[in-house]
This record gives sequence, structure tokens and C-alpha cells, in this order.
Amino acid sequence: MKAYQVVESGKPLELNEFDTPKPQGEEVLLKTIACGVCHSDVHIHEGAFDLGGGNKLPLPLQMPYTLGHEIFGEVIELGPDAKDINIGDKRVIYPWIGCNECNVCSSGDEHLCSGGPVLGVQKGGGFGDHVIAPHSRYLMDAGNTPDHLAGSYACSGLTAYTALKKANIKDSADSLVIVGAGGLGMMGIQIAKAAFNVQPIVVDVDEAKLNLALESGASHAINSRDEDAAQRIHAITGGVSAVIDFVGSDLSTGFATNLLRKGGRYIIVGLFGGELNHPLPMMVLMERNIQGSYVGSLSNLKELMKLVREGKIDPIPVERRHASEANQTLIDLKEGRIMGRAALMHD
Ligand SMILES: [Zn+2]
Ligand SMILES: [Zn+2]
Repeated sequence: MKAYQVVESGKPLELNEFDTPKPQGEEVLLKTIACGVCHSDVHIHEGAFDLGGGNKLPLPLQMPYTLGHEIFGEVIELGPDAKDINIGDKRVIYPWIGCNECNVCSSGDEHLCSGGPVLGVQKGGGFGDHVIAPHSRYLMDAGNTPDHLAGSYACSGLTAYTALKKANIKDSADSLVIVGAGGLGMMGIQIAKAAFNVQPIVVDVDEAKLNLALESGASHAINSRDEDAAQRIHAITGGVSAVIDFVGSDLSTGFATNLLRKGGRYIIVGLFGGELNHPLPMMVLMERNIQGSYVGSLSNLKELMKLVREGKIDPIPVERRHASEANQTLIDLKEGRIMGRAALMHD
């Protein structure tokens, strides 16, 4: 098999060839069809998250490794004990795999286990042309979804869906602001409309992305660089019920928390980096809920994929690129040049 691998943090990926793994036990071998490229691939490739104040959270990863956690592939070989899946099935893979031994895993929150072999991080991901799924329960049918879009539900779709559940939008009187109109923000708009019956206000700093958000169903698109951006959102909503921040920077956090009404929720998802600097009395007086949200559980992905198969979620724009463009795609994503999502297509 071939894979575009990280050989050194931040350095160009290298194309390596090695033996295709043989599925053992309950494992399933898939031939990768497409793999979405996610902003967290950029951070993982750089080898650290920015904690603000000049501090970094390093990611101790064994080199070389293969990125890519938005994987869509075709089952080509089954381990001797694999069940409930057939050769030729095309599936999205749930990548947020846990140790399956700890309490966190047994409660259904595998994605919060710290011991798991996450695909595209600790185990080979979709920047390789073959991927091992540890068990058929991680494989999801995407119905008639186009090949290049299907994998994006495993991260950007799941992450947006999970954050929207935490936002706890109850009815159309509740207002929702989405910060960031990249791949995650676009998913957020579609899933908010389809599953939560709300048209979000979308905030970004890029006019082209704001236009795309409006075309995709945002109720308003507002440039946070405009001086009156916050006042305009207040005028529309009278104070926002929930903000989902898909950027997660010093600037976006400061902007977003000030939009909330009393009792409002701020769900932070983006990993751009920085620090939260927030006046403590406002936490109490405004009863602010500030919560992080990290990808999502296997059961949430099952719920989401049901909506996808039923055709309820409109597609986000996905640019198709050949897998050999993996390096350039990471650079373009980092520099904000991707509209919606980019997916690497394997031969
Ligand atoms: Zn991701
Ligand atoms: Zn675990």
C-alpha cells in the first residue's frame, strides 16, 4: 500500500510504500476511496496546539504516521472473526476509537478515552490508500452520498452535530450564532437546519465564505471585522441563546461570549488556539455556560448517518483533489483558501 506520511512535524509529507496490513480477528480492511482534510490535520501535522501566551501543547506521535480521519472506503478483506459486513460494502469509518476497556469507553464516550488508537493519529488514516477498521461496528452506511462527501460526516459532520446538541436549541425563538464559515461551519448550517430546525446567523472575517454561508441557508452573514457587528447581532436576536465557535481563537472567543443573553451557551469547538480571558462576575451575573465540545460519540454518528441516508442534510461544497496533492491541501487549508471542504481522492 501507499500512504502520504508525516515523517517530521511540519515538514512536507512523504509518499511511502509498505506491505498492506492483513486484517486480524474482528478487523476489516478497506481500500480508501476518499478522505476529507480537516483543520485538525493541520495542527496534528504541526505537532502541537497553541495554548496562548507562547505556550504549546505538544502531540507525542510516533513517526512516521498517516493522517486522515474523514475516511470513506470499500471493504476488501475481512478478519477471520469479522461479522455484519461484506466485501464490496462502501463505508464511512468512525475514527475516534477508544481502548474499549475503561469506564469512559463503556459509558459510550469512546471519543473521550485517552488510550484509544484514533485513526489518522495513532493508527493509519485516509492519507493512505488502505485503512484497517478495528471492528465492523465502526463502519457506517452513507446511502447515496457522493464518495467525496461521505467521509466528512465522520469528523466535521459529527463535530457540528454534537456541538449543536450541546447548544440545546429548543424552538424557533432560540437564536443560534455560528462563528467560522469553513468546512465545520458549513456543516453546522446544514445540520442546524435539518436536525434542529434553526437557521443560524453566521460570522466570519472572509466575505467569500460569508456569501457561501448565505447561499447555504444562514439567516444572516456578518463580518466580525465590521465595527457594528456585535450590535447588529444584538438587534436581530436581543441576545443570543447559543454560540458555536468553530474558530476558537482569542478574538473569536471575546466576540462570541459578549453576544450571549443571560443563561446563554458558548460551545467552543475550534482549535485555532489562544486563551480565554473572561471577567468572572459576568459568568455569574449572566449565568454563562461555557463548554468545550470534541468530535462526538459513536451513537451520535449513528444518529447523524441516519439523517444523511434519509437525504435530510444538504451537501456542503467539497473540492476533489488527488491524494498526491495532500501537502498543498494542508497548506491551502491553513491559509484559508479552501471553500467548504477538500477531499483527497485515491486511485
Ligand atoms: Zn477532523
Ligand atoms: Zn477507553
